[in-house]
Amino acid sequence: MYVKILYIELMNFNLKHPLCFLLILFSAQLQAQAQKKYVMVIHGGAGTILKKNMTPEKEAAYVAVLKQALQVGYDQIHSGKSSLDAVEASIHVMEDSPLFNAGKGAVFTHDGRNEMDAAIMDGSNMAAGAVAGVTVIRNPISAARAVMEKSEHVMMVGPGAEAFARQAHLEIVDPKYFYTRERWDGLQQAIKEDSLKAVLDHGSKKSMKLGTITKDYKFGTVGAVALDQAGNLAAGTSTGGMTNKKYGRVGDAPIIGAGTYANNATAGISCTGWGEFYIRNVVAHDISAMMEYKKVSLAVAAKAVLEKVGKMGGDGGLIALDRRGNVTMPFNTEGMYRGTVTADGKIEVLIYK
Ligand code: ASP
Repeated sequence: MYVKILYIELMNFNLKHPLCFLLILFSAQLQAQAQKKYVMVIHGGAGTILKKNMTPEKEAAYVAVLKQALQVGYDQIHSGKSSLDAVEASIHVMEDSPLFNAGKGAVFTHDGRNEMDAAIMDGSNMAAGAVAGVTVIRNPISAARAVMEKSEHVMMVGPGAEAFARQAHLEIVDPKYFYTRERWDGLQQAIKEDSLKAVLDHGSKKSMKLGTITKDYKFGTVGAVALDQAGNLAAGTSTGGMTNKKYGRVGDAPIIGAGTYANNATAGISCTGWGEFYIRNVVAHDISAMMEYKKVSLAVAAKAVLEKVGKMGGDGGLIALDRRGNVTMPFNTEGMYRGTVTADGKIEVLIYK
């Protein structure tokens, strides 16, 4: 914005002065650079996402929803709304799509329920909100935001979180709303593998057993990080967790510092992958801490932390955006649904390596 004012001021000045001409050139260049900085980055999960397993129709469907999510978020930022508004609006699009493991399309627990987790964080004041194990809130990311803005707490779980969401006038739906045939079949497959442990517990990438959880072949969690015109960062993550999860298992997504984190001084981060590893490595906060204490760049910090997770056996990825508009999207799986939009509105969507 300052660059734009400088540019306009110079245009009104004495254009014949040679120094003035140079300054105009310089400010125009700065403006062009500002247009290219990233204002939003999203993900729709990482995992075994291979081109050979994808039909052109399915790929087009994923790309369309990711583009829509970016456009909706960009429109918020472009119209002067906050990064929190952009993150929430963008995640709504992905929660409402059955393609992703969040909101409609969430994976099933061992008991055949959809228990969802979500978190949001405001980098300008480090306020945060999260919900876990919720079953009737149409858009869990909005419940997380309500916890942040309308309560004194950071995290609410299960029926308590749902009662709070009702009070906050959020949309409540019948649990059947979250059902999709694909996720139901995924659960049946996972249960089958669980009971055939001796045969299938061979540690292959395709049917790795995690104690009581059989890992889905891909993770479809969704997340978004945005940088608004005021220079504020926000990050959010929403998920159904992992197929066949038991005992009220909660993943990394709603845990502030593990799967979700934002701090204007460093970056906004949203993770996807094998949650237990992200919790134990406090991944999102670790990246921010490296930037804060060691003054390393976003890309270097994110790469180092993800490598550590990978060495321990955790797979997945993350998206991150810093206050200067730099983006990084590393992952150690075959693919990750991901996309970016720059200040000039240019959208880019990627799926494979
Ligand atoms: N991180 C999520 C969890 O462990 C799963 C995912 O990313 O899809 O709950």
